[in-house]
Amino acid sequence: MKLDDYIRMGSGLANFFCDPERTGFRKRYYPNTTTCQWSDWRWQLRHRLRSLQQLEEIFDLSVEEKAAIQRPPFPLAITPYYASLMDRQDSNDPLRRTHIPVMGEYRVLPGEADDPLCEEQNTVVPGVVHRYPDRVLFLVTGVCATYCRYCSRSRMIGDQAQLARSWDTAIDYIAMHPEIRDVLVSGGDPLRLANGLLDSLLRRLRAIPHVEFLRIGSKIPLVLPMRITAKLVKILKKYHPLAMSIHATHPKELTLEANQALSRLADAGIMLGSQTVLLRGINDNLETIRPLMHGLLKNRVKPYYLYQCDPIRGSGHFRTPVETGMSIIAGLRGHTSGYAVPDYVIDAPGGGGKIPLAANGMVGREAGMVLLKNYQAEIYRYPDPVE
Ligand SMILES: *Cc1c(COP(=O)(O)O)cnc(C)c1O
Repeated sequence: MKLDDYIRMGSGLANFFCDPERTGFRKRYYPNTTTCQWSDWRWQLRHRLRSLQQLEEIFDLSVEEKAAIQRPPFPLAITPYYASLMDRQDSNDPLRRTHIPVMGEYRVLPGEADDPLCEEQNTVVPGVVHRYPDRVLFLVTGVCATYCRYCSRSRMIGDQAQLARSWDTAIDYIAMHPEIRDVLVSGGDPLRLANGLLDSLLRRLRAIPHVEFLRIGSKIPLVLPMRITAKLVKILKKYHPLAMSIHATHPKELTLEANQALSRLADAGIMLGSQTVLLRGINDNLETIRPLMHGLLKNRVKPYYLYQCDPIRGSGHFRTPVETGMSIIAGLRGHTSGYAVPDYVIDAPGGGGKIPLAANGMVGREAGMVLLKNYQAEIYRYPDPVE
């Protein structure tokens, strides 16, 4: 069967289908594991790579990686599935760089902080960040399936995360504030919650009359796609209108398995958007971002945000100049489907919220005309009506 045939079958399959490409990796490193076990998200979570010894069994680690893995400043975990997408020899492999620590994590540059977006200051009750007038960020768990080394919330993630023991206060806050019409459920990764817990959480939020729109932020469809079971999707679709923002980094993540997970979510009517962080040497060029955006669209995911990397402590080796982001956006806008163009934003340090940076657009005024620059850098004039 060809890849396209599998993709067409994807959403209809009762069970999770594993790309035969993964078989070699599984047989080599997990010789006693069946495809069935491999395709079980619980097996994947139980067998995450967390220590130097476990990583060394699979990867040829550089001296730098070995040193950094000893005592990472925040938790380290990679699912065997996600590890199988990484190059075992090349420490510059893009996915490997996003998940295996290097010494850069220990170097703190000027302007970097544990909580640069001042989320703590905007935290109204434990777990609820209320920064914008009509919507809140609700942090429901401190755990993820895998840990991205550039995590914006590294200060509070991991098994020992200091989060509210119950959601009661948070849900009461939302219920008592009729201006909140949109709740962004995030963390950690909300899809790490057991089905029953997620179900009751969404049910309680949906029961609040003024909450019109629910969304979940997750990377699980790309790092643990087998978690997107038919059962999970059946729960999610009860709470429409529901959107999901998928954290996507690189085209290598858009596998057959990811396609199945995303197809199931899209077939269930969940609006899919993406969030991508620009990362130096990983995805900071048009040749990587363009196929990523196109690949997301092919998976029915609308590219939503392209983020400038937050100045989190030890993020210097990940951050790119703002000019890089501007030129990537300039290379997309007009050159490809508008649907494939995300908003390039900086989440303002200090808590100012997301600020979009657009390429081209309005560049001045002249005698009742607005001067506009198009994607080919030509100037056009629009007669602006005077009041
Ligand atoms: C990003 C974010 C939101 C959602 O912003 P949108 O632009 O609506 O996607 C809400 N609250 C906080 C604190 C955020 O950081």
